[in-house]
Amino acid sequence: MSDRPVSQALFARASAVLPGGVNSPVRAFRAVGGAPVFIARANKARLISADGAEYIDFVNSWGPAILGHGHPAVVEAVREAATGGLSFGAPTELEVLFAERLRGFYPSLDKLRCVSSGTEATMSAIRVARGFTRRDVIVKFEGCYHGHADHLLVKAGSGLATFGVPDSAGVPEAIARLTLPLPYNDADALREAFANRGKEIAAIILEPVVGNMGCVPPEPGFLQLVIDLCREHGALSIFDEVMTGCRLAPGGAQERFGLRPDLTTLGKIIGGGMPLAAYGGRDDVMSIVAPLGPVYQAGTLSGNPVAVSAGLATLAQLTPALYERLEALGAALEEGFRAAARDAGVPACVQRVGSMITLFFREGPVRNWTDASGSDTKRFATWHAGMLARGIYWPPSQYEAAFLCGALTDADITRTIQACRESLAA
Ligand code: PMP
Repeated sequence: MSDRPVSQALFARASAVLPGGVNSPVRAFRAVGGAPVFIARANKARLISADGAEYIDFVNSWGPAILGHGHPAVVEAVREAATGGLSFGAPTELEVLFAERLRGFYPSLDKLRCVSSGTEATMSAIRVARGFTRRDVIVKFEGCYHGHADHLLVKAGSGLATFGVPDSAGVPEAIARLTLPLPYNDADALREAFANRGKEIAAIILEPVVGNMGCVPPEPGFLQLVIDLCREHGALSIFDEVMTGCRLAPGGAQERFGLRPDLTTLGKIIGGGMPLAAYGGRDDVMSIVAPLGPVYQAGTLSGNPVAVSAGLATLAQLTPALYERLEALGAALEEGFRAAARDAGVPACVQRVGSMITLFFREGPVRNWTDASGSDTKRFATWHAGMLARGIYWPPSQYEAAFLCGALTDADITRTIQACRESLAA
């Protein structure tokens, strides 16, 4: 018997009209089993399900909800903007304000362009990098996700060290072959790739702290090496900060680590929960984007006034106090989970950067995809079910970082650690 009959019934209906019952695959709970929890509404750090159950939310819309759900300033900004018109397809002052505000947080963004999803942002940044360098090859790292554009759905196949193989049907091999996947945190592999193919490489794209294989931090010097090798070989560095942007600091991982990439992609938090993302960087590079230059990129809803208003209202709340609070909450959760795993005698490690955190069911450290994929995913699934039964909504996959929001209370963290202890024992 399901302990969430309403969600179960909705999932059956959904499965008749949506592939897998969802509009984005990981929502289907395939990795952990059972019907996904259908959400009715949310407030602060709480989700209320269609079954009427309450959960402490550690997904936060996969990152955007850094303030928690329904922040009054964001809701009011959306209401006001919507009243004035949903979309014009013409420029507005709001977009200018938004770009100015982002540039204040990210000194590397001489110029930026708004789009509607992280996928569009990374896809466009890569087109710009290829247009600027007049080269075709893209270096990416195994286990890093950059949206679902053809050339980014690639990681290394074991026997195919030189050329990429597509991870998805429908991606032509001719496209995948232009993507060179390398192991994350492997300085030697990176140097070797540039030694062999430096003249062909247009750009390196990476998550400066990985969230998409679980939380994997960069090793000291790795990000700087990426920037330096690009500079040396006439390629461009692209920091995909769709997840880390405004999460690890207002200015993202590049602020946290004191780095300046050539191009940056942003999404999630900058839209405050609305469909909004951006890409940008060096003035000379961004000056080749239409209508100034030959790289075409456009969007009917780009810079949408309601989305930009939600973004502006969210950015206004990104105070030093928020990040101090997130750091304290994260540290407490990390310590609690680590002690719980140790006491339960479960092989595990906890990896965290700021408010991104993962409990890996394997000994650490996890430095790359090979390490991450050695986790005990069966044990994760059992643990996840235990957490859910105890009112904790954790990402339903071992390979997704959890996100903390500023609306969490100390009591929420204590309860979550207790649930972790009980779920590990079960
Ligand atoms: N880049 C990164 C680092 C991401 O985490 C994601 C989404 N999780 C994307 C790009 C794609 O963004 P979207 O889902 O908005 O297309």
